[in-house]
Amino acid sequence: MVDLPSTPSFRLDGKKAFVTGGSSGIGLGCAVALAEVGAHVVIAARGKERLDEAVAAINAKGMSAEAVVLDVSDIAAMRKVVADHGPFDVLVNCAGIGRHSKALDTTEEDFDFVAEVNWKAAHFVSGAVAKGMIDNGIRGSIIHISSQMGHVGGIDRSVYCGSKHAVEGMVKSMAIEWGEYGLRVNTVCPTFIRTPLTEVTFNDPEKIAWVMSKIKLGRVGMVEDIMGAVAYLATDASSLVTGTSILVDGGWTAG
Ligand code: NAD
Repeated sequence: MVDLPSTPSFRLDGKKAFVTGGSSGIGLGCAVALAEVGAHVVIAARGKERLDEAVAAINAKGMSAEAVVLDVSDIAAMRKVVADHGPFDVLVNCAGIGRHSKALDTTEEDFDFVAEVNWKAAHFVSGAVAKGMIDNGIRGSIIHISSQMGHVGGIDRSVYCGSKHAVEGMVKSMAIEWGEYGLRVNTVCPTFIRTPLTEVTFNDPEKIAWVMSKIKLGRVGMVEDIMGAVAYLATDASSLVTGTSILVDGGWTAG
C-alpha cells in the first residue's frame, strides 16, 4: 500500500483569535471565517452598538465570539485588551482607514491619521500579540489585512499606499525576527471590495472605470473572497508560510 499524505488541518478548534476592526466589512468576514473553523473570536472595534450586533449574530449561529470596544490607535488601551483577553493563537489585524488625496494636497493631519491606524497600530498590536504567543509557547499566526495597494501605486493614494507598503515591509521583518519562536506573520491583500470604506470610490464613475479596467477577472471583490485566504493563513494548512502575502486581487497586480 502507498503511504498517503493527508491534508493538514484547516480547523482552529480550542484556539483563540483576535480580530481588530471586526464589526463590519472585511473584518467581520474574517471573524466569521475563524469562528466557522472552530476558534473563539475576540472582536475589537470602536463602535459598541454595531460590534454587539455582529457578535450576537455570530453567537446566534452557534459559533463563539465576544466583543471588546477598542480604538487600536490608543496603544496603551490595546495592550491592556491583549493582556486581559490573550494569549491568542491568531491575530487578524483588519482595522484600517483611508483618506485619499492628491499627493500635493495631502494635509499633515490626514497623513498622521492614516499612518497611526494603518501602520503604527499594526506594528504595536503585532508586538503585543506576539509577546503573548512567545511567553506562552504558542506557535501562532499573525495576519494583516493589507491591500493590493501595498504592492502597487494607486490614484490619489500616496498616503494609503505608503501605509500599506509599510505593513508589507513590517511583516517581512517581523517574520524574520519571530520565526525562531514558530510565529508566522503574513498579509492578505484584497483588491477593491464593496464595504463602507470603498463607498466613495464606488460612487465615482471615473474611479470605478479605472478599477474595472484593472481587474482581469472582470468583477470587484466580495468579503467572501477574503475569508478563505484568512482561514488558510490562520491554520496548520499554511504552517510553512511566513513573511509573505496572498494577493486576492483578481489579477490587478499581474500587469
Ligand atoms: P470598513 O470601514 O468596513 O472596516 C474597517 C474597520 O476598521 C471598521 O470596523 C472600523 O471600525 C475599523 N477601524 C478603523 N479605525 C479603527 C480604529 N482606530 N480602531 C479600531 N477599529 C478601527 O472597511 P473594510 O473595507 O472592511 O476595510 C478593512 C481593511 O481592509 C482595512 O485595513 C482596509 O485598508 C483593507 N482593505 C480594504 C479594501 C476594500 O476594497 N474594501 C481593499 C484592500 C484593503
